[in-house]
Parts: sequence; structure tokens; C-alpha cells
Amino acid sequence: MAEPKINELMEKIVSLCKRRGFIYQSSEIYGGIGGFWDYGPLGAELKRNVKDLWWRTMVHEREDVAGLEATIIMAPQIWKASGHVDTFSDPMCDCLLTKKRFRADQIEPQSGTAYTYVGALGPGWREAWRELIGGDPPEERFVTLAPDALRLLEAFQAKTPATANPAWYDAAEFPVLVARGKHPEYGAKYARQFYTLRGTPDPTLILGGTEEVRDSTRFNPDNGAGLTEARPFNLMFKTVVGPVESDENVAYLRPETAQAIFAQFKNVLETSRQKVPFGIAQVGKAFRNEVTPRNFTFRSREFEQMELEFFIRPDEVIEAICGRVATVAEGSWSGEPQPDWGWEVWHKYWVEQRIRFYEGVGLPRTTLKEYWQKPEELAHYARATVDILFTFPFSKRDETGELTGEELEGIAARSDFDLSQHQRHSGKPMTVFDEELKAAWAKLDKPRQDDLWRRYCEARLKYLTKTARTPEEKEKAGAQARADADGLAKGWYVPHVIEPSAGVDRLILALLTNAYAEDEAPDDKGKLEKRVVMRFHPRIAPIKVAVFPLLKNRPELVAKAREVVNLLRPQMSVFYDDTGAIGRRYRRQDEAGTPFGVTIDFDTLGEKGPELKDTVTLRDRDTMKQERVKISDLPTLLLQKAR
Ligand code: ATP
Repeated sequence: MAEPKINELMEKIVSLCKRRGFIYQSSEIYGGIGGFWDYGPLGAELKRNVKDLWWRTMVHEREDVAGLEATIIMAPQIWKASGHVDTFSDPMCDCLLTKKRFRADQIEPQSGTAYTYVGALGPGWREAWRELIGGDPPEERFVTLAPDALRLLEAFQAKTPATANPAWYDAAEFPVLVARGKHPEYGAKYARQFYTLRGTPDPTLILGGTEEVRDSTRFNPDNGAGLTEARPFNLMFKTVVGPVESDENVAYLRPETAQAIFAQFKNVLETSRQKVPFGIAQVGKAFRNEVTPRNFTFRSREFEQMELEFFIRPDEVIEAICGRVATVAEGSWSGEPQPDWGWEVWHKYWVEQRIRFYEGVGLPRTTLKEYWQKPEELAHYARATVDILFTFPFSKRDETGELTGEELEGIAARSDFDLSQHQRHSGKPMTVFDEELKAAWAKLDKPRQDDLWRRYCEARLKYLTKTARTPEEKEKAGAQARADADGLAKGWYVPHVIEPSAGVDRLILALLTNAYAEDEAPDDKGKLEKRVVMRFHPRIAPIKVAVFPLLKNRPELVAKAREVVNLLRPQMSVFYDDTGAIGRRYRRQDEAGTPFGVTIDFDTLGEKGPELKDTVTLRDRDTMKQERVKISDLPTLLLQKAR
């Protein structure tokens, strides 16, 4: 359960999150459960605001996107078709001593001397030595005389198989890394533990050899013990549907929300009156049995995703209809979508849209990076993938000392892979009929038709032959590709897709780390004191406005404050606070990230003159400036600032 060491800023943020009710460890009263987190009152509001804003931007404010809310458990065939059953795995290795599991690609490299123990001898080995080898055995408990010890081991093995009496000897290999400057006994101690745990009491170690290693990832960074070879470990959580626990009833908690969108593609298309190009959006829980959950909520086992699958025409179809395909270099991707956009421009467009979204929730462009995956990093079906990275305090630094950033969202051009997979596995067509294509195709001259036919056929063949093994299957794939290309003339094709896939929890963590600031503010006596302030954009702040009666024991002030709360509450989240000095109350709201504070004082009651009656002070969290505004103006003013 121990969290890896994170830097001081992260420690402050984690502690504030617990103290103020943003994020708690799940099941904390039972010691917690690794990789699971609960959102407290402020965190729940923040999360809801972020998801609502995503939905508003991606669905409500567009004409070409429809929403979906699918189940978490779906037919297991979906995960077979998507490739998750066979390939959704991380390379894993286990510590030979503690059995702790590591993700092979995330092990810190280490340097030092590697001691490889090739076995251990149990009690009574000295007598055996005299009998089997002859002469006096060495005195050491730590046998470096490997050749003789090995002969004894071999003699033991020849006499009895290892399983017969493991207490006599153990021929298992145990490598251990001793960091520079540390005594070899450090490694020997772990080696003895290793053989003892395996059933050889008071083991005498046999050292096979030593080797100087640099930047090796073959050892447990905690204790230097050797690791097993990396093996794939499927990240999907399994469960059973129905009362019988059998293999046929196994189902999975979805590891991403996207597949439901593909599986329901035809239904949504038919019921939403959308036409390609159009998108289907979904927000919901996803589950991955991550091997090493870490960096607070960054890598969790239960998390939420906000995913869009945006279906587009294949480039050959665009060319048939528009006569050309627009290029990224022409620059139209930053404006309104155009009919001649192919996958490349649509992909670039979505990268830009998503970056604008992040800026809109308050992450400055300087904290974001676009990482264009290199050709060798791309999944086999992907044409391009861009990761939007945010520079977290725990991000690694590059050679120049700059934070490299961690993935918030991936935007992938996935070709027609997903729909084709579901078409193949379910036997249900995932093709769409496009009236414009049919009409345009008829008007093309023969060489143009042949050229487009050939290119589309080649692309389909590339996909279809991936799974074809036998000559018959290859022949069948060829026939299918030709049939698919013939479909173009009749207006049929499988849409391609661009997938912007974002993690809610990673975005929340980015917003929390970005918002955290320390500065100074005057206390009630005017003395400057340190303050912690969460500078959330008002759009996503958990509480939009706090209302304070200057004094709790003055019923007229309290009544007026309650009136203001009732006026604002139907429009936004409001917090009422009448306890403590006003400065303390501000400080509490600064930590909660509340952008506005409204104080009801004696002026509000008209005690200093009728011109101030029914006015309040409105305090800005960031500038700490206060202005006098009319109560009746508050709803419009605050809504303007928070939208
Ligand atoms: P990573 O490489 O960091 O494991 P990924 O490339 O596997 O991420 P995707 O499968 O592309 O991630 O998922 C899309 C988004 O879902 C990610 O960009 C991230 O924001 C979020 N996400 C994925 N895994 C996790 C996780 N374990 N915890 C929190 N968010 C996650």
C-alpha cells in the first residue's frame, strides 16, 4: 500500500485534498485499498463540473455529436473483438524474494555488483561433503568455493531429486544486486532469506559468480533481489455473470468506455438522425488492474474516462465526393469542419479542439505538450496518435531539466479497425450508406473510379489479411476486400474514426496541482500571513460563491445573508459560513478554491446611508480586491464570471 515517494509539493497537495475533502483514500478505515480513491464533498463538485463542461463542449454545443451511456459489464465477445482479451497487458515481473510485482517498463535502473547464488546447502551438508566429496568441508557459512560446492550440489541431486528433501539443498538460482559501497553481506542476507523461505533452514550459500552491472532493470529497486523474466499480465478485472462460476460466465469490467460506442454504433446512427461525419460521446467508469498504481490518483485501478469516437468518411470517399482531400498544411483545421477534410485534418482539428478545452478549464497552454507518437510507437491500426501531456510536479525531467509531462488524453486516428473488428466478430454489418458517395461515384470517369477502387481495396486487404493465416483464408480476405471496394460504387463503406480519449481523474489531478498556490494575505488585524489558495477557474470551482454575514449574533445580518443565499442557490453552488473572524472565513474558502466571497455588513442594512442599502462587498479570491455591488446584480455578475 505504500505510495512511492513524491515530491514536497505533491505531499502538500495530497494533504490538502484530504484535509479539505477533495480526495480520500478508498476504504481508509480499513487501511485503504491500493489504486482506489474517493472524492469528498469538494472533489465531487469539481469532478461533476469538469464532466459537465466536457459534455457541454463535446455534445450540447455541437450538432455533430450524440451521447451514449452504456453498461460497465458487456458481452465478453466485445473484449475479444477489441483485442483486450489477447493483448491488453503490461509486461510484469515479480521479485524473487518478496513476490512484489513490478511493471517491467517502469523499473528504476540500478548499478552495482550482482551476486548470483546458484543454490544453497541445508543442515548436515558437512557430513555429506565428507561422504560424497571427501576431506574436510570448508568452515564458511558463505561458500565461495563454488566448484566444490557445486560438485556437492550435483552429488546431492544425483542422489535424490530436489523434491525429496528440500532441507538438504536447493538448486534454485538467486541473483541479488549490492549497490556500490555496500557490504556483500547485504546481498547474502537476502539470499539466505530466499532459500529459508523456500524450505532450506540455515542455508549455506553457493556463490556462482559476480558481475558489475550498470543501469540494470533486472533487480527489485527496494532490496536488490532479482526479478523474474517479464510476462504479460492482463489488466482487465474479471467477474462472473449469473449464479454459476464457470468459464462461460466470465465477464469483464470494462477497461475503457470506447468499445460500447463501437458496439452501439449502428443503433445510434439509426436513432440519432446523424450522418457521417459525426461522433458518439460517453463519460463513465473504467477499470484496469494496474500493476503499480502510483502518483496519487494519476494511475488508479478504477477511474473515469470521457471519450469521443468521431466517425469520418475514408479518404477515398472524400476524394470521390469532393475531388480532393484537404491537407493539414492548408491550415483549415483551426476553423469550422469542411466536407473535404480527410483523417489527417480531422485528427489535427480534434487535437486543437481538445487543447482549447484544457485552456478553457484553466490549464495554461504552457503547462501542456503535444506528443506525436513516433511511427514505431503506433498501434498497428493507428495512423497517428497524439498524447496531450500535462507537466505534473512528479513528471520526469529531460536532459535540459524541463518537465516532460504525463498523458492526460490520447487522440488517435484509428482507421476503420474497431468497426471492422466488430463486424468480423459479430457478423453484423458496420457499413454505412452514403447517398452523396453513390451520386458522386456515378459521375467519376473510369480511370478515377479504378484508382479509388484499387486504393480502398488495398487498405481493406491490409486489414483483412492481418488475421488470415492459411491460403484459403488469404483468398477469402482478397475476395472480401474486392467486395468492400465494389461497395463504394453503391455508396457503402466502413467509417474511419478519430478518438479523443481523456481521463477525468488525471484532469482533476492536473487542475489541483495547477491551482495550488501559496502567497500572503492580511489577517483581521492587517498583518500579512501565509495563505494557501486554490486558483481554480471559476467555471470548474467546486463552490462558486461563499456568503458571509459579518457577525453571527446579529439576526438582521444573518437574515439578509440567508436572503442572498436563497437568491443565488438556484443558479450556482453557494456556501454559507458565519463562524469565526471574517479573515479566517476567507482563508477557508481560498483553500477550497471559491472564487468569490460576498459579505453582508451594516452598510447592507442601510445603517450608513440609504445609497449603500442592499449592497454587499464582493471579494475576488485571486486579487483579494473588494468591490461594492448591488445584491440584485449578483446573479448576473457571478454567472458571467463563472461561465
Ligand atoms: P497510460 O499509458 O498512462 O497507461 P493509456 O495510454 O493506457 O495510459 P488510454 O488507454 O489511451 O491510456 O486511456 C485514455 C485515458 O484514460 C488516458 O489518457 C488517461 O487520462 C486515462 N487513464 C488510462 N489509464 C488510467 C489509469 N490507470 N488511471 C487514471 N486514468 C487513466
